[in-house]
Amino acid sequence: MNFQELYYRNPYLTTFEAEVCTCTPGPDSNTFYITLTQTLFYPEGGGQPSDHGVLTILSDCSGSTCDERLCDSCPDRITPGETITVLDVQDSERGVLHVLSKPLNPGTRVQGEIDWSFRFPLMQNHTGEHIISGLANRKYGYENVGFHMSDVITLDLSGPLTWEQAMEIEQEANEIVYADLPVEILYPDDSELESIDYRSKKELEGAVRIVHINDADDCACCGLHVRRTGEIGLIKLLSLMNHRGGVRITMLSGRQALRYYEQICDAATAVGQLLSVKPHETQEAVQHLLQESLNKDRKIADINQRYFQAKADSITEKKDLILCFEEQMNQVELRKFCDLLVKSAKGSVCAVLTETDPDTWQYCIGSTEVDLRAKVRVLNEQLDGRGGGKPVMVQGTFRASAAAIEAALKQTLHLS
Ligand SMILES: [Zn+2]
Repeated sequence: MNFQELYYRNPYLTTFEAEVCTCTPGPDSNTFYITLTQTLFYPEGGGQPSDHGVLTILSDCSGSTCDERLCDSCPDRITPGETITVLDVQDSERGVLHVLSKPLNPGTRVQGEIDWSFRFPLMQNHTGEHIISGLANRKYGYENVGFHMSDVITLDLSGPLTWEQAMEIEQEANEIVYADLPVEILYPDDSELESIDYRSKKELEGAVRIVHINDADDCACCGLHVRRTGEIGLIKLLSLMNHRGGVRITMLSGRQALRYYEQICDAATAVGQLLSVKPHETQEAVQHLLQESLNKDRKIADINQRYFQAKADSITEKKDLILCFEEQMNQVELRKFCDLLVKSAKGSVCAVLTETDPDTWQYCIGSTEVDLRAKVRVLNEQLDGRGGGKPVMVQGTFRASAAAIEAALKQTLHLS
C-alpha cells in the first residue's frame, strides 16, 4: 500500500487534508496534474471510474518553489477558501494524478472532499460483482474476463450460462447479501497465498491484495469495496447475452439497482394505467393490444385492396396516363395501388401520389411500356424531387403543386 492512498486505509472517509507535492501542465494548456502527500481520490482503473470531488485551498503556497504564473499578478492565482473541481484522477508512476483546471503551487495545503453519492454506489456495485463472479467461478469454473462500470455494470464470463442458471446465481448472491458477511481485505505472505485458491486476471508481482468473502469469493483486486455484504442491499442481473464464447451479464447492485427498479416499476405502473391492468399484467395486455392492431392492419389492407380494385375497374378504356392524387396513403399502399393499375393494363403510365406536406407529394409511377428510370431524373429536376427505382417502377418525392406535377408528367413522358 502506498502512503498516498488513503482510500485503501479507509474507503469510508470522505474528507482529508494534504499538501501539494508537484504540479505539472497537462497535455493541453487548460489542465494541470497535481500530486498530493495523501489522497482519498481513487484513480480510474480495473473497470472502476475515478472519484468525483473538490479541493478547497487552505493556505497559500510557501513561496519557496513558487512558479511565476502563480504570483500576485497572475490571473490563475488561487486564494485560500477557493474550491476547485477535480476533473479526473489517474494513476501514474509518479503517484495519483489529480487533474485540475488551475495550477497549484507545491506546498499549498488543501482539503479534499470526494463525492460520496458517486463513490458509495460504485463500492456497492463492485462488491456485488465480486459475489456474482465468485459464484460463477465456484459453480462453473468460469473466469471474469471483462468488467466495466458505467450506468450499468457489464461483466463478461468465460463460459456459457442459461438465464435460469444466471437467476440461480443471483438468488445465491442475494442470500450472501442477507447474511451480512464481512468483506475482508487480506495481504497474505507468499506461503499463505499459496494456500488460497483466488481469482486473478493477470500475473501479480509484489504484495497481493485479496478480497475475501466467505462462501462467495477470493479475488486479487485493487478496487474499493463495502465492509459487509449487507451494505450491498440488493444484487440484480438485468440481461444475459452470448459474448465471445461466454456470456456478457449486465447487472446493478445497491442504490443503483433500487433506482433502476423504481424506473421500471413507474413505467409498468404508467403502462398499466393506460391499459387498465395491474403493473405485472402489462405484458399480456400489450400482447393483446399488438394482436388487435395487427388484425386492424389486415382489415385496413383488405379494404384498401377492394378500393384499389374498384378504382381500377372504374376506368373503362385504356389511357396514356392514369394519374391519381390520393389522401393519406403510406409507401406500401402507394406501391400496391400503382402495381394493381399497371397490371390492369389500363394505362401506359400509372402514377399514384399522396400529399405528405403542402405541395410535397410522395409518388409511385409504374409502366411496362416506358423506361421510367431515365424519365424520373428529368421529372425530379423539374419538380424539385428525389427518388428513383427500376425501369418498370420508380418511387420518391416531388416538391411541387398537383397541377405542375400533372403538366410535367405529360410533357416529359410525351403523353396526352
Ligand atoms: Zn474488487
